[in-house]
Amino acid sequence: MSLLRISALHKYYGDLHVLKGIDLTVEPGDVVAIIGRSGSGKSTLLRTLNGLETIDDGVIEVDGEYLDAARANLRSLRQKVGMVFQQFNLFPHLSVGQNVMLAPQVVKNTSRDEARALARQMLERVGLLDKFDAYPEQLSGGQQQRVAIARALAMSPRVLLCDEITSALDPELVSEVLAVVKQLAVEGMTLILVTHEMRFAREVGNKLVFMHQGRVHETGHPQTLFAHPQTAELAQFIGSIN
Ligand code: ADP
Ligand code: MG
Repeated sequence: MSLLRISALHKYYGDLHVLKGIDLTVEPGDVVAIIGRSGSGKSTLLRTLNGLETIDDGVIEVDGEYLDAARANLRSLRQKVGMVFQQFNLFPHLSVGQNVMLAPQVVKNTSRDEARALARQMLERVGLLDKFDAYPEQLSGGQQQRVAIARALAMSPRVLLCDEITSALDPELVSEVLAVVKQLAVEGMTLILVTHEMRFAREVGNKLVFMHQGRVHETGHPQTLFAHPQTAELAQFIGSIN
């Protein structure tokens, strides 16, 4: 069974038709790289998938549960869909460990001791267990982003959405974050990544989605698409970023 099924998804901001009928299927273990020009609807698509944006038409199905315009399953869906943002959005007044412990306690009623054990595990996974008692401002941007990943993982999501998570980082910090994402992919985590890192998309992704003007303009295997774009728009986009 597919893990994620998006069908005929439409989204408007006022009169602006931002998502114009998106169909997309994601299987367990897929690493989907979404690329496209600024304004093509990439972030909006990700945000609809964990309920941060309402949808106007269509259906999102995650792990057998439906989210439609009525949003009845929102709470349960959010637990299945983790998200990491360009700006790390850590709570500055909480320690690294507390940042990771918070959601399981609040949303899942996990006990404090269990949440602490879980946070230690997740920080170990991103190589930052030694920063458990540090505060976000004491960390580099790359480390903060790795904490944000650990925080999302602590909710045991079925799929992790990453929206340009290396775009706000100094160039020398990008690779440590990509290494963590790559490790998740190797471990079989289902990932949907909006990224400008084309080499990474080609190496780690098994599906590429090129968005253009609110539509999935072209999709397929990354290596095939990069080598043989079928549309002028994708060819032009690839040309513009190389
Ligand atoms: P991308 O992530 O591909 O750059 P976005 O999904 O952020 O694209 O934006 C798609 C379109 O929707 C753009 O035209 C953008 O200006 C518009 N948009 C995004 N968020 C909002 C919002 N909250 N209100 C109104 N328009 C928005
Ligand atoms: Mg965006």
